[in-house]
Amino acid sequence: MNQTIRRWAFPVFALFMLVLPALPVPEFWITQSNYIGLYAIVALGLVLLTGVGGLTSFGQAAFVGVGAYTAAYMATQMGVSPWLTLFAGQALSIAAALLVGALTLRMSGHYLPLATICWGLALNYAMANMDFLGKYDGLLGVPTIQFFGFDLGTGRGLHVLVWALALLCALAVTRLLDSRPGRAIRALKNGATMAEAMGISTFHYKLTIFVIAGMLAGLSGWLFAHLQGTVNPTPFSISKGIEYLFIAVLGGVGQVWGAFLGSAVVRIVDDQLQVWLPRLIGTSGNFETIVFGIVLIAVLKYAPDGLWTFIARRVPAPRRLRDWEGAAALPAREKPGRGEVVLEVDKIRKEFGGLVAVNDISFQIRGADIVGLIGPNGAGKSTTFNLITGVLPATSGQVQYRGQAIAGLASRRIARLGISRTFQHVKMIPEMTVLENVALGSYLRTRAGTVAAMLRLDRAEERRAFAEAERQLQRIGMQEQMHELAGNLALGPQRLMEIARALATDPALLLLDEPAAGLRHKEKQALAAVLRQLKAEGMSILLVEHDMDFVMGLTDRIVVMEFGTRLIEGTPEEVQASPAVRAAYLGTEH
Ligand code: ADP
Ligand code: MG
Repeated sequence: MNQTIRRWAFPVFALFMLVLPALPVPEFWITQSNYIGLYAIVALGLVLLTGVGGLTSFGQAAFVGVGAYTAAYMATQMGVSPWLTLFAGQALSIAAALLVGALTLRMSGHYLPLATICWGLALNYAMANMDFLGKYDGLLGVPTIQFFGFDLGTGRGLHVLVWALALLCALAVTRLLDSRPGRAIRALKNGATMAEAMGISTFHYKLTIFVIAGMLAGLSGWLFAHLQGTVNPTPFSISKGIEYLFIAVLGGVGQVWGAFLGSAVVRIVDDQLQVWLPRLIGTSGNFETIVFGIVLIAVLKYAPDGLWTFIARRVPAPRRLRDWEGAAALPAREKPGRGEVVLEVDKIRKEFGGLVAVNDISFQIRGADIVGLIGPNGAGKSTTFNLITGVLPATSGQVQYRGQAIAGLASRRIARLGISRTFQHVKMIPEMTVLENVALGSYLRTRAGTVAAMLRLDRAEERRAFAEAERQLQRIGMQEQMHELAGNLALGPQRLMEIARALATDPALLLLDEPAAGLRHKEKQALAAVLRQLKAEGMSILLVEHDMDFVMGLTDRIVVMEFGTRLIEGTPEEVQASPAVRAAYLGTEH
């Protein structure tokens, strides 16, 4: 039943919107529907940018203005065909997004929202003060769009174009989100660390979604100019930018169809309020703004995920079709030989202010070795992981991986070389399935880009990525749970999922930070068996673990840390016999 609804909802809705102008619908509703389509195209960009990517922009109205003014100026002053102005508007939107994005997206926190406000204000000011753009009066007499000699006009004809484009954009964004670049984009919101550890350039994808959002807004502006026949600065002001954000939040942050629902609700309610409020209050004015402010607060409080969730909850997402049976394996890395030095850590040091978290630690890992890193809480084990994997810069010291100095390299470069890891505090995308989370691991072994994903040219490669993800889940004993949402898993399975994700990167060296924490005895035994199997296949492993039995039975060598310093290094037997280690562990519960 749900499957049927899911399958047919889009075609039925699309068909309905496309034939709507042919039905005896009053002109008023055609106009409303045109505006809803225009808003939805802008809001789609914000779904991707803000909802999925976690980047807030107040400046989308300015991008709409770029598209609209380009269309109006080129059509009225230069007599250029609208189909050419569309490309010019898109080129300008891309250029503006690249500029604003490149300047601000490397910085974290509030820079982007602030930059988009500045960009919105500046552009609006420019529009209102440029002679050639007609200042506050704007540009009048924008011609309608001709399509093979057919005048689309500003009503029913244009409706077909508006909705054809809006639906295509929705389809493209939907497809993008379900792809290799889509998984990278969905990884942005939960901090850069995990994504970068999977080899993803988070900056690249932030810029990508900012450009896509700018292009969508520019497209909406192009349609807007031809729908209104005039452009002036007002509809592209910062308050309109806030309204677009409001639409996206109201409809459902991160929900493609929320963009349409939000647009429809805002357009229709706004229109009705403008009719009814003055009658109720007795004076005219922009009272609807106040009502929207109250609505926004109510939505944020009672439906923080937006209105679309009420619909999405009724029709849960279907299981992904298992279409990857027999897909070719992804390319694999050549593993280092047994006994070859894989990792050489040489006096690495990390100081946090006055605290020396890692104090000149040195050790080696050889091919197919399992090395344990143990020590009480706060000993500096996780920090050592972060230094090796480039999450944190070392204060001093060297790390050689297969003969190459890697200290100072970015985390994603180190991942590319074949080091993968898990995190002590699980880092995942809770709203994606276990399978998709693991597929994120194969990012560096696949290539499909944003455009290919939108055009669905990536399916063969996707099948290979999912086959690999399933294989790794099977290996770790989690195949049964592959269709579950990662956020619904218990902590133990979440850790196992992270191991499967790390394995999907096809590493030569695997760093596991407390993988057995939260696992039951049986699960620990199963995990130990998996790690032995990996070792037999030539994988080198560095393991942080508190469970002594687990570590003793599994490792070739053990490094014991305490207060950032190396207490002892040796075989499990040597470590167990060491009085220093006993002393360090005395008084702790291990
Ligand atoms: P372990 O993993 O062995 O339990 P950690 O490496 O997490 O230990 O921490 C080692 C020490 O460094 C602790 O005292 C911890 O508080 C400190 N520390 C870890 N990360 C940071 C950080 N980002 N800023 C400041 N201090 C930190
Ligand atoms: Mg730790």
